[in-house]
Amino acid sequence: MSAKILDGKAIAASIRAEIKDEIANDDIKCGLAVVLVGEDEASKVYVRNKIKACADTGIKSYAYYLQQSTEEDEILQLIDALNNDSNIHGILVQMPLPSHINEKKIISAIDPSKDVDGFCAINLGKLFLGEKDVLAPCTPSGIIEILKRSNIEISGKRAVVVGRSNIVGKPAAFLMLKENATVTIAHSKTQDLGLITSSADILIVAAGKQELITQNMVKKGAVVIDVGIHRTENGLKGDVQFDEVSKVAQAITPVPGGVGPMTIAMLLKNTLNAAKKFKSV
Ligand code: NAD
Repeated sequence: MSAKILDGKAIAASIRAEIKDEIANDDIKCGLAVVLVGEDEASKVYVRNKIKACADTGIKSYAYYLQQSTEEDEILQLIDALNNDSNIHGILVQMPLPSHINEKKIISAIDPSKDVDGFCAINLGKLFLGEKDVLAPCTPSGIIEILKRSNIEISGKRAVVVGRSNIVGKPAAFLMLKENATVTIAHSKTQDLGLITSSADILIVAAGKQELITQNMVKKGAVVIDVGIHRTENGLKGDVQFDEVSKVAQAITPVPGGVGPMTIAMLLKNTLNAAKKFKSV
């Protein structure tokens, strides 16, 4: 048996094309502010990719590059101005922030209706409550889109999420619950991880541990979503041993080209949804 490859790159491309069409056809005014503090090289690449993705889809981006030494108050003042700017429908502050800045304080200063990363307590609370039209975190939303657009049934299935971070694991678990999966969350203190993961019809792995999941930890015919990203001498690797696990899984996301490309696509989608909501109020 060889697993079907779930092509996140292709799915992300269709989502981006749909967003581009909708913005052009309905003449939607849509603006995203991207704030980068400091000189982190990886963050610069992420920001550049996000700005390019905006340009490709017709979203106007507003970039703010602030020095590493910028004071917290200055960032809060900028966020306040962006909250009150009707050209801006989404605000993204690239993480991580320099250590003298309180990330929680910055995230909670963003108007929840413009919090297109979906990280603030109000949006995470809405997700917890199972509310509709929530600005949900982008990577977990991307996982749901991959499953849905690959016609993988979620309702009634047994889902295991490995990882409980606030940006991936926990929101992924709540989104799966919203889709009526029976959800188990495993984490670093879980005992006998393989016993838990091998019960999964849908296994979502966001542990940040290279090739943690081996073939014997996966049920035959399971769907495996690998969120992990690890830069190695042999290119990017995930949290799942792809070659071995793809022999038993029914379907699997590759790394790269699986979940990764979905994150920016869902950021664009959240920005468009925020702009549409703004227009309708
Ligand atoms: P994190 O370090 O914040 O959280 C990791 C979680 O995994 C923790 O909750 C921890 O309890 C759990 N964990 C760690 N070791 C474990 C083990 N041995 N067994 C079971 N659980 C274990 O990481 P994160 O931000 O959630 O990211 C997870 C991975 O996903 C990373 O590799 C990250 O680079 C990647 N990531 C990818 C994207 C994307 O766009 N594809 C986005 C965000 C994160």
